[in-house]
Amino acid sequence: MNKKWLIGNWKMHGNLASNKALIEGIRAELGQPDERVALVVCPAFPYLFQLAELTRDSGIEVGVQNVSDHLQGAYTGETSPLMVKELGGSFTIIGHSERRQYQGENDGLMGRKALAAIDAGLIPVICVGETAEERDSGRTHEVLARQLDAAFGYIRTAHDKIILAYEPRWAIGTGIAATPEIVQTEHEFLRQRIAIRDKDFAAKLPIIYGGSVKVSNATSIFSMPDVDGGLIGSAALNAREFITIYRELLNSTPAEAA
Ligand code: PEP
Repeated sequence: MNKKWLIGNWKMHGNLASNKALIEGIRAELGQPDERVALVVCPAFPYLFQLAELTRDSGIEVGVQNVSDHLQGAYTGETSPLMVKELGGSFTIIGHSERRQYQGENDGLMGRKALAAIDAGLIPVICVGETAEERDSGRTHEVLARQLDAAFGYIRTAHDKIILAYEPRWAIGTGIAATPEIVQTEHEFLRQRIAIRDKDFAAKLPIIYGGSVKVSNATSIFSMPDVDGGLIGSAALNAREFITIYRELLNSTPAEAA
């Protein structure tokens, strides 16, 4: 049984004082973390070092929301995954739909960023997902396959530390999560698509769901067999809500998972 993952995407929120209050709230609500569920927070870049300090020896890990596809060089305004690693980050979200929508990121760039992250020793959380229009026109699987194949044009199944996040764009920040049945169908599709490349890797690959997960829908989504955790946006900004979701995930995880 695979270990589970709960990752908070803080987006472009926070400041020194509110980050401190949020992480102290999370630590107080969490108490002793359970090793069956890894807990990760992804603040905005400038606060990475602050969060790395505030989570030291807490069992909570830290990531970022984006990295450059280069490790070093004349790339003004970019942040190398090596820098993230040096400042205490272990994860990076890659290809989030808000970056595709507002920064024009495409599938190829997502693959190159994922590879740079791996080269720097980070775990990429690779986001794939269809728009409402793509779903309505019956193209969900075509889009997911294209995004996945583009990423695996750069990374390899030999890279064992990868997390895949299914994040339908129409569910992100809308308050309308995908139904558990949709989540299961798409996670199963993604796992089968990867199994064509490598069956063992596909069986072990954590596939997490993101898109309006909250306390009221977490249990039903996490009870689906192909769901290995959640990528949480707005609910990650409330310590009690985030840790209640963590507990729901823990409750859905068999005792032997680690
Ligand atoms: C996200 O930003 O990845 C996300 C899932 O946001 P929300 O939970 O707010 O929909």
